[in-house]
Amino acid sequence: MTPMFVPGPVDVSPEVLAAQARPMLPHRSKEFEAIFQRTEEKARKLFATQRPVFQATASGSGMQEAGIRNFVVQDVLCCVNGAFSQRWFDVALCNGKNAEILAVEYGEAISPNLLETALKKKHYEAVTIVHNETSTGVENPLVELCAAVRQTSPDTLVLVDAVSSLGGVKIEMDAWGIDFMLTSSQKCLALPPGLSLAAASERAMKKAETVPNRGWYFDLMLMEKHRLKDSTPMTPAMALIFALDVQLDRILEEGLENRFARHAVMAGRVQKWAEDQDMPPLAPPGVRSKTVTSLVNKRGFAVAELNKFLLARGMRVANGYGPLKEKNFRIAHMGETQLEDIEALLVAIEEFCS
Ligand SMILES: *Cc1c(COP(=O)(O)O)cnc(C)c1O
Repeated sequence: MTPMFVPGPVDVSPEVLAAQARPMLPHRSKEFEAIFQRTEEKARKLFATQRPVFQATASGSGMQEAGIRNFVVQDVLCCVNGAFSQRWFDVALCNGKNAEILAVEYGEAISPNLLETALKKKHYEAVTIVHNETSTGVENPLVELCAAVRQTSPDTLVLVDAVSSLGGVKIEMDAWGIDFMLTSSQKCLALPPGLSLAAASERAMKKAETVPNRGWYFDLMLMEKHRLKDSTPMTPAMALIFALDVQLDRILEEGLENRFARHAVMAGRVQKWAEDQDMPPLAPPGVRSKTVTSLVNKRGFAVAELNKFLLARGMRVANGYGPLKEKNFRIAHMGETQLEDIEALLVAIEEFCS
């Protein structure tokens, strides 16, 4: 397997890939319902929630849309500090909502004080927060941001995108007061792309009842109705759910705490090395992502040249995202990646630079 240090789609273990090849079942069969139910139960552990976890045949952006369509009639505040938080804002606009931006520079984190100030000026039904900005390698201070919303505007729903962090970093949905949390399969969960998971708080589901035009495909009320029968409104992505079943076993077997520790160690190693090499992480200390680092390309090499060199050694990194292209390059340290993979990558990059 060629280790990919790219923040999605990431490497998938052979065992999980193979799980997709098992024969299909009728989706309204007892056999499939049993698999669906157990994946849902295991996913609750991942989300640290008592709430049901929905599975949709869509990438993470689909669940961003679900959050907007189910929980917002009109006013939503989108915290933006990178490309994926910007996307959530765009999703809100495209769904006809009155969306506003709370923006900081790419590379910075959303400050709880700034959020409090915005919430004091105007009432919003919901706030969107991307926990881990994959485009910049910044982890927003989610606990503090959730607390800021609760203190300043208690009935405002907190919608969280945890696409590139859930499963690699501790996030406790219920304990932290998150109303809606989504992830997709191809990043930190190390599954093939095409499946997204999300859970919603009780009060968020109450609100959804009152929201008109939730649409059909991403209507969480409809999904809940079917989930109670261990099923989905439409045909599920069965092969991906077979893979999810196996991968959640592997994740829980490693242990969530061990997994968080492994990600923290890899992040620490990459980020210390990056500073030593004078290609520092874009993100300031304190808000650096545990799953992906965007390094400032101070040496000014072409990222394609670096990748040509790395590919000959069976490895690959990612360019900077959007406006950070060539100015940055990104090393993902998530999912199946182990510290020894990281060590091999760093040696190779040093060789390329010398
Ligand atoms: C990749 C990513 C998305 C988009 O997810 P898709 O699964 O590609 O739709 C959204 N948010 C974050 C933080 C991401 O990293």
